[in-house]
Amino acid sequence: MLLPVATSVTVVHRRKVFRAHSATLEEVERSDIELIVDAEVKELSGTRALEQATISIKGSDELRHIPCQRVVAALGFIANLGPLREWGVELHDNRHIVVDSAMRTNVSGIFAAGDITDYDGKVRLIAVGFGEVATAVNNAAVHLDPTAQLFPGHSTDEQQSPIPA
Ligand SMILES: Cc1cc2nc3c(=O)[nH]c(=O)nc-3n(C[C@H](O)[C@H](O)[C@H](O)COP(=O)(O)OP(=O)(O)OC[C@H]3O[C@@H](n4cnc5c(N)ncnc54)[C@H](O)[C@@H]3O)c2cc1C
Repeated sequence: MLLPVATSVTVVHRRKVFRAHSATLEEVERSDIELIVDAEVKELSGTRALEQATISIKGSDELRHIPCQRVVAALGFIANLGPLREWGVELHDNRHIVVDSAMRTNVSGIFAAGDITDYDGKVRLIAVGFGEVATAVNNAAVHLDPTAQLFPGHSTDEQQSPIPA
């Protein structure tokens, strides 16, 4: 994504291998991106702004210095429920929020969707999360307004505006 806007792109990766779709990897390998693997950014330096990244490569005592103006740090993530733990919602394995088929938690008015939820047979994928959001939002709407319809209708059911003659 950065290639069309950057003068050059260098990827520094701490392992030799990447965990990604093989087609994406092939695309990167074919591109002008420089891949530095088994490596770590040791230092970022510059006077008023970033000018240089210092990189150490496993098995080499010499540090590599690369001129650079921007860094995108993709360092992984830590899943942490934080203050959610104090809301009284039922958790599973102390990591996931238990929901029913309407995405309700045990606390009235609190709904959940996506990777955070847990129920028997849960599959943590993007498509599942999208579906759960639609379920949660429509059930939350009925919770707020019990006269509302759970099923919102299809966008294709919308009345088309007449085409001007
Ligand atoms: C390496 C990897 C590869 C994957 N590949 C695929 C794939 O190919 N296809 C697929 O369908 N699924 C894939 N998944 C699963 C997919 O990424 C998830 O199912 C999806 O991202 C879940 O979306 P989400 O919005 O529920 O959660 P997330 O995408 O995790 O979003 C939750 C967001 O909440 C933020 N957050 C967390 N705590 C707080 C807080 N206390 N306050 C504010 N914000 C907070 C997080 O920073 C994050 O941005 C992959 C997952 C991983 C880890």
